[in-house]
Amino acid sequence: MSSLEISEVSFRGSALKPSDRPGEFFPHVAIAGRSNVGKSSLLNWLFKQSLAKVAKAPGKTRTLNFFLINRSFYLVDLPGYGYAKVGKELREEWGRELGRYIHEEERLAGVVSLVDIRHGLTARDRDLQNLLLASSCDRQVVLTKADKVGRGHRANMRQTVQRELALHVPPLAVSVRTGEGRRDLLAGIDDMVNRWRTQHRSD
Ligand code: GDP
Repeated sequence: MSSLEISEVSFRGSALKPSDRPGEFFPHVAIAGRSNVGKSSLLNWLFKQSLAKVAKAPGKTRTLNFFLINRSFYLVDLPGYGYAKVGKELREEWGRELGRYIHEEERLAGVVSLVDIRHGLTARDRDLQNLLLASSCDRQVVLTKADKVGRGHRANMRQTVQRELALHVPPLAVSVRTGEGRRDLLAGIDDMVNRWRTQHRSD
């Protein structure tokens, strides 16, 4: 198993337009999920510090937030989608912007897609998966808040999501409360970064 540990993290700003994104040719691993899925909590848990905001106004921020990890790659916090109070027009606009990021950003190595283990896939989660399937980047599905359900529900949900998305392996279940899944998630992120590096090696 990979031994990626996050030893250094620094917030490098928010951006949407390509020209505003950090300039280095470092791989990006983006973290996506609907509002309230537990994305900020998960990022802080990975970072072991509170850099990502929890309890922000839902759906308010629409920029990509860039966190430089170990001075070698970026974890990119994508805005939470699917929040009902955001109007249709804004949702569609954001969908187009997200689509452009996914299809056009050469540095995007992969997307970790968060799904609440209690609720399973939403229509917006499926939209995102379809975007990812049409692009060349890696995808990993992660079920959040695993501590909130019993063993039976967990096993069912892992099977259901695997089947519905035709994944090669069942999705990882994680919990920031119990610490479950952190090493496996870091290993998955490390794999995405390493695959991207292999593909983009210039020697
Ligand atoms: P975001 O909107 O996706 O950034 O979600 P937040 O990180 O703000 O989390 C939404 C809510 O879920 C908060 O009340 C968190 O405390 C809670 N939460 C997040 N992760 C977990 C988890 O692993 N277990 C439990 N029990 N609650 C969680």
